[in-house]
Amino acid sequence: MALQNASYDRIQEEYLQIRRENDRLYEERLTGIYNAHPELKEYDDRIADLLLKKAFIALKSDEGPGAEKKVDEEIAALHDKRDKEAAAAGVAPSYLNRIYTCPYCHDTGYIEKEDGPAEKCRCFRKRESEILLKESGMAQMLEKNNFSVMRTDIFDGETREHFLKAVDFCKGFINSFDTDYRNIMFCGTVGTGKSFLSSCIASELLATYHSVVYMSAKALFDTLAEAQFSADKVPEAEAVKERIYECDLLIIDDLGTEMTNSFVGTELFTIINERYNSRRSVIISTNLELSLLRDRYSDRIFSRLTGSYDILKLCGPDLRAVL
Ligand SMILES: [Zn+2]
Repeated sequence: MALQNASYDRIQEEYLQIRRENDRLYEERLTGIYNAHPELKEYDDRIADLLLKKAFIALKSDEGPGAEKKVDEEIAALHDKRDKEAAAAGVAPSYLNRIYTCPYCHDTGYIEKEDGPAEKCRCFRKRESEILLKESGMAQMLEKNNFSVMRTDIFDGETREHFLKAVDFCKGFINSFDTDYRNIMFCGTVGTGKSFLSSCIASELLATYHSVVYMSAKALFDTLAEAQFSADKVPEAEAVKERIYECDLLIIDDLGTEMTNSFVGTELFTIINERYNSRRSVIISTNLELSLLRDRYSDRIFSRLTGSYDILKLCGPDLRAVL
């Protein structure tokens, strides 16, 4: 479940390639513009000279603030003239801006923080999720399960309306994901579309730079147990926990199919509670009726689920027969 060092190296190499390619595109664009409009290069060279002059003035304290102000005015006047000429020539004034694929981290993968260590950028987390999805074999599942392949002609009457309402709800969840904190619990018997809708949401959010962890309940608790009880797997345990607790969306599929014991109960409550406290969404799907959920897990889990999750009961025909 944790990213291997080789995968981290691969991501860093990808960032390096992106930066190199963007630098090349930037230089190419600038050279093209300067060749076609040498007067713009002259302006930019003069502005660069003045910026240098300003830096020297700032170093020498005897020239006073007036000298710096005068240079600032000269620079502003040159900017103005240059932008007017650029506009007349049909060149956007942003031609001098460097090119970045990710506007948030400028293709470094990390966001510097004033009050602590740098944080992974959302694009880094997205890439992490993609690699993990690929390694987990779920990429193929997401390709087959997304809104673009959704069929509603298999439903009749009320069932169809009910399913379409659920789809609308999921789309609302996706659209307001960055502004509203919400959780979903899909209930229903086998093949009614719980995993399908979870996959649709995962697909859409992955495509918009969100990190998603999608695990069956069995795999989730097996991984946590393996990490917890194997002394040689401490670093891996930390990495797994970090992703489960810190991903933007955690999807626990088929809750109720795992073996129930006190370890599972404690871990489930901790995950649900920690993510609730940090306002990070969870989607759970289960075949269990609500009353069975209460019997199987503790009251505190049950009340957390019913209190802070939107419960969607699905009742369609067996979707797996047609998808
Ligand atoms: Zn980024």
